[in-house]
Amino acid sequence: MASSEQETNHLIATVALKIRQSLNLSDILQATVDGLRELLKCDRVIVYRFEPDWSGIVTVESVSEDRWSLINSIIKDPCFEESWTLKYRQGEVTAIANVSVGNIDECHQEFLESFDIKANLVAPILLPNPGDRVEPEENNQLWGLLIAHHCQEPRQWQESDFNCIKQIGNQVAIAIQQAELIHKNYQELRQRKLAEQQNQQTRKFLQTIIEHIPVAVFVKDAHPENFGKFQLWNPATEKLLGLKAQKALGKTVYDYFPPDQAEKFNQQDQEVIKKGNLIEIPEESIYKGKPEHKIIRIIKIPIYNELHQPEYILGIAEDITAYKQAEIELKQAKDELEAKVLQRTEELQNAYNWLRKELTRKEKAQIELQNSEASLKESERRWRSLLENVRLLVMSLDTQGNIDYANPFLLQLADYNLSEITEKNWFTDFLPSEAQEEAKAIHNNILQPSFNSSVSYQQTVIFPKSKTEKIIAWNSTQLHNTQGKSTGVICIGEDITEQKAIQKKKDEFVSVVSHELRTPLTAIRGVLSLLAEDKVDPKSQKGKHLLDIGNSSAEHLVKLVNDLLELEYLESGTIELIQQQVNSKELMLRAMDRVQILANKAKIDIQIVESDINFQGDSDRLIQVLTNLLSNGIKFSEPNSNIILSAEKQDNDNLRILFAVKDHGRGIPSDKLESIFERFKQVDASDSKRKGGTGLGLAICRNIVEQHGGKIWVNSVYGEGSTFYFTIPVVSC
Ligand code: ADP
Repeated sequence: MASSEQETNHLIATVALKIRQSLNLSDILQATVDGLRELLKCDRVIVYRFEPDWSGIVTVESVSEDRWSLINSIIKDPCFEESWTLKYRQGEVTAIANVSVGNIDECHQEFLESFDIKANLVAPILLPNPGDRVEPEENNQLWGLLIAHHCQEPRQWQESDFNCIKQIGNQVAIAIQQAELIHKNYQELRQRKLAEQQNQQTRKFLQTIIEHIPVAVFVKDAHPENFGKFQLWNPATEKLLGLKAQKALGKTVYDYFPPDQAEKFNQQDQEVIKKGNLIEIPEESIYKGKPEHKIIRIIKIPIYNELHQPEYILGIAEDITAYKQAEIELKQAKDELEAKVLQRTEELQNAYNWLRKELTRKEKAQIELQNSEASLKESERRWRSLLENVRLLVMSLDTQGNIDYANPFLLQLADYNLSEITEKNWFTDFLPSEAQEEAKAIHNNILQPSFNSSVSYQQTVIFPKSKTEKIIAWNSTQLHNTQGKSTGVICIGEDITEQKAIQKKKDEFVSVVSHELRTPLTAIRGVLSLLAEDKVDPKSQKGKHLLDIGNSSAEHLVKLVNDLLELEYLESGTIELIQQQVNSKELMLRAMDRVQILANKAKIDIQIVESDINFQGDSDRLIQVLTNLLSNGIKFSEPNSNIILSAEKQDNDNLRILFAVKDHGRGIPSDKLESIFERFKQVDASDSKRKGGTGLGLAICRNIVEQHGGKIWVNSVYGEGSTFYFTIPVVSC
């Protein structure tokens, strides 16, 4: 079935009219596909729009039966070839008369059959690029396809069908292009409206800001012919400069400010334009109207048009008078504060210096204190050491006489321990009752303020616990505190017991010696005075007798003096022993020789017990001892008796030799056995006178024996005789 040319033209005219009458594309297209289906007498006509991936959607459709409807179907032809697009771009119309037998590939065939298509006729919808003619060209945009389907049976398409669909396709393209143009214009219009709206909003927004901003905002004209004329003057500017906008707008600074200030502002404006950049005037003093001084900060910004020509100068000014004033006040406050800080710093420095000096002084004082403490300690240590080691008794008593301190020597001497003596009363607990009152009186005297630092001397007797009495010589002085008040007494004592005993002995000795010396001297003086006064003729019998007495007295005196001197030398160690090898027998024989005449005279027989012991000793001195013992034995024995002299090593001690001189004479009473070895001590006071001794012999013997390291003693039975013994250590030769 071919459509007539007349019908085709009618449809084109109808479509064109529809395009002109309606701006609604879907109405146009729907009328077009309906008209075309009617014209072509086919089952379905669709407008198929391409997506970029060459899939497509059926946007408009006209179908004879609903079952063939494809509206809004998205169709992707897997077999759609690139070459097809080229054909369509060139405006070619394609047609398939019978899908089942057509010269098409299998894939495309299956695809078409899936949509119940038995035959089709396809014309491209080509949109020319803007400015191009509506002519099919390769570079035209292939918008979509106008497709006629025959679904009931194959169809042989006619030439007129080809022309019809092609022309209708072109009309559709025009309608689409027109719709798109309209859409585009509509969009542009809409955007412009939107932009205008936004612009108005922005302006309003800016206007609101400018109206209400508390910062002066003004705009000046930058065109040379109107340069500096105010175009905008917001309320904050009115307030700042005291000038209403309607008076300021269109005027310049020269109309309101003093010439020099106006000139300055103008120059700033010139500079902004010249620089093309924002300038900032941090501080500007202005005088407006009344001489009201204000300080403002100004920012000036040039504003250019699209040709980059200066249009305006935007000015923003801020009143910083209060800020500046605050700044000045702040600076003043800061200066004042700094001055105060300086002053305080100086005061602090002075205080610090003073503190340092004080600290240094205290440190020095501390060091001095430490030194003096150290020297005090040292001194105390010395004193304590002295007190603890000195062989003197030291004690301190309080004012009542209670013992505060006693040194070790005192404790040792008194045989007390510290607890027994501490806090005891010296007078009542340690002194004999008869000595207490006197000692207390002396103590109280020392405590008197008038006593000062003098020393009081006294002697007291003390009774140690387990020893014999001791005589102590005390030197006492006052103890006082720093205020000079007496706090007690310190006593330093010396044990003079021995001195006293020696003194006593010495006194006795002197008295005995003077007595012993006086006796022969008296005799000599008596003889000499008788002879000198010629009362006795020296040649007479009586005279000769007197001379004999004088002579023997002189001899006795010489012997006495010699013995005394010898004893003194021996005791003082002036005479040293001459140690040599001696023999006991020899010593005894030589001693016997010396007394033999005396023995003969007294008819005493001396016997020596055999002995031959060698040892070290001073032979002369040992012979002197033996001689003295033998002569005593002779003196105190009756005639015809004997004396036995022996020497033997002691049984129990081989290191000693024991000499014995045994007589059978008068004997010695037991109470004199010790004393006869002391000087001038005799059994009978007349012994020496009668027997011609000095009373010093045994004392000399004892000294010699003791110097040899031995001992001497006597055993005696009074009336039967005596045996004198002495031992000498044997040092083997
Ligand atoms: P003197 O020169 O008086 O003998 P001594 O010191 O030798 O001095 O003796 C002291 C005293 O000892 C004698 O005076 C005597 O009284 C007594 N005495 C010494 N030896 C004997 C003795 N063998 N028998 C008795 N009495 C003696």
